[in-house]
Amino acid sequence: MPRYDFRCRSCGATFELRRTMAQANDPAVCPQGHEDTVKLLSTVAVTGAASGGAPRQAPSGGGGGGGGCCGGGCCG
Ligand SMILES: [Zn+2]
Repeated sequence: MPRYDFRCRSCGATFELRRTMAQANDPAVCPQGHEDTVKLLSTVAVTGAASGGAPRQAPSGGGGGGGGCCGGGCCG
């Protein structure tokens, strides 16, 4: 059973509860009896923080600058 950390915004105490994932979002009550608590992200890894953005596009260098005299043997 995963463990969830909570912090009470009334008294500032932190506490942990073991509860199922189905109850993860249920409100937790502080050991002091306060109900104004927030869940902390500590032990449970949360995925989904995908950073959007366009992929970097590498400039394709080059560009054949043709010409020159050495192609055809004019240089000797
Ligand atoms: Zn409290």
